[in-house]
Amino acid sequence: MKFERFLSIPVSAVFLLTGFVYYITVFVFVEDWIGLRSSAGSLNAMMFTLLCFLCLFSFFACVLIDPGQIPASYVPDVEESRRSDEESQKNGAQLRQCDRCSTYKPPRAHHCRVCRRCVLRMDHHCLWINNCVGYWNYKPFFILVLYATIGSIYSTFTVIISSFQKDFGGRAPLKVFYVICGAVMIGLSATLGTLLVWHIYLIIHNMTTIEYYEGIRASWLARKSGQSYQHPFNLSVYRNITSVLGPNMLKWWCPTALGHLKDGLTFPVSRDGS
Ligand SMILES: [Zn+2]
Ligand SMILES: [Zn+2]
Repeated sequence: MKFERFLSIPVSAVFLLTGFVYYITVFVFVEDWIGLRSSAGSLNAMMFTLLCFLCLFSFFACVLIDPGQIPASYVPDVEESRRSDEESQKNGAQLRQCDRCSTYKPPRAHHCRVCRRCVLRMDHHCLWINNCVGYWNYKPFFILVLYATIGSIYSTFTVIISSFQKDFGGRAPLKVFYVICGAVMIGLSATLGTLLVWHIYLIIHNMTTIEYYEGIRASWLARKSGQSYQHPFNLSVYRNITSVLGPNMLKWWCPTALGHLKDGLTFPVSRDGS
């Protein structure tokens, strides 16, 4: 756990933005729309507060959980690697070495230049959490994007509904404030929604962002030699989803329910009979 990760401008910006969105949604737009003193208003405020709490909880998990370090004792499975090049490439077991760390890399691990180390099942380095997204914090990251998308869409609706209801009565600055808030919330919802759809696609195909781009190159190379490329870790939609979120659907919603994760050093491949 590294609390220094909070000492960054993008991380502070996330806190400021969350605080701003929370304030305008509850105390400006829900208040304008149905009033906080009505039971419907307080129910809406309570639900949005819970959503913001879940976002912040997931955010803390993303920042503080180590994405996955390669243990010093890690030795690659030499037997697996002795297979033919093509076979080992298919199951991701070929010997891979990191020039910078001077160690062997397990399948799906990559070197992060920002963190200056290899990260297990690395997806990408995320500026907004000042941490890599890897084996141990990919689920919290996905759940964070999910909650943040739901929250910003909800907030966008409250802005739109309350601005249609409101009588601005010639108060131009107030109207401008509503328009700016609406534009910010629509932009945020579209950005987070796109990120969510992208990661749903990756989870369904059991891919990381890095593997998606590697796959494009591998497909192109395979096509050139008249072959086809298949992502080795794509098992089945259900197994792909549960490998990230866990087998218990009730625990899917908890970003820190990570009991289903093993060591991040080996991964089942599609030839294992899925
Ligand atoms: Zn490395
Ligand atoms: Zn990193």
